Amino acid sequence: MRLHLGMISLRVLAVLLVAFGSALPRDADSRWAWPLEPRPDVVRTYEQPPTPYAAGHRGLDLAGRPGSPVRAVDDGVVTFAGSVGGVRSVSVDHGGVRSTYQPVDADVRRGARVARGEVLGSLLVAGGHCYPAACLHLGRRHGEAYADPAELLSHGGSVRLVPPSGPPPVPPPKARAPAGVTGLAAPVDAPVSSPYGMRVHPLTGELKLHDGTDFAAACGTDVRAAADGRVVAVTYDPAYGQRVVVDHGGGLATSYNHLAKAAVRSGATVQAGATVGAVGSTGMSTGCHLHFMVTVAGDPVDPAPLLR
Ligand SMILES: [Zn+2]
Ligand SMILES: [Zn+2]
Repeated sequence: MRLHLGMISLRVLAVLLVAFGSALPRDADSRWAWPLEPRPDVVRTYEQPPTPYAAGHRGLDLAGRPGSPVRAVDDGVVTFAGSVGGVRSVSVDHGGVRSTYQPVDADVRRGARVARGEVLGSLLVAGGHCYPAACLHLGRRHGEAYADPAELLSHGGSVRLVPPSGPPPVPPPKARAPAGVTGLAAPVDAPVSSPYGMRVHPLTGELKLHDGTDFAAACGTDVRAAADGRVVAVTYDPAYGQRVVVDHGGGLATSYNHLAKAAVRSGATVQAGATVGAVGSTGMSTGCHLHFMVTVAGDPVDPAPLLR
């Protein structure tokens, strides 16, 4: 299920989760307890990535307060308590299925037996997916595979899906493409992993406009100009990473972001299909993908209807 976290779809999703929850078998043994008390709001749901290395959200983000006690979702044995890529984490094995918690300042050690509801540590802010707000990223793993923790958490009543900062803002009006512009070529041959539109940012947790189309292309894939034009910028931006901007005239421009490297210089003339760079994960990015943007008079528009 593709989740567009717009205002309306948040409500639709909440309804779907309620409906789904009531249809689940009531197997008390496989149920997880919520790791925060009182029962937390879900800030971001699980998003299965299209490929194992693509961007996705391999867990559930639960709103919390800095220092809140984080509790084991079920009886188990602590298999990890330490740092993963600089983020303080705890893992608990429940006999085949593992729960993971981050960012957490652990009070338990590896090898410790813990009971369902027992405190594992306290919630940190640094390294969290909702920074600067605090939230717990809860993961569920079966071996190396990730699965949706929400399936195991009891849904009695409604599930609230809210951004950490409160109700979603009103999306900005969508800019219109100039008349006659319909023929952009796809910049890579790869599936779309995240469309243009309002969404919760995978790294900052903020609900904002996702101002381009993400393509799930592997690191190093050639990125091609979507139309004839002139390269007007080859820059490094803290958010967009290595980017190439091509002006196509008439106020229309395209940009290619999070590149591993640019293959063109500013000022170069390019034809549609010319290689402008290679897919990477530079800037604010959770993994290799192409963030493809189209702007009209400087305002971002949805690239999807313009692609051939
Ligand atoms: Zn998360
Ligand atoms: Zn993107």
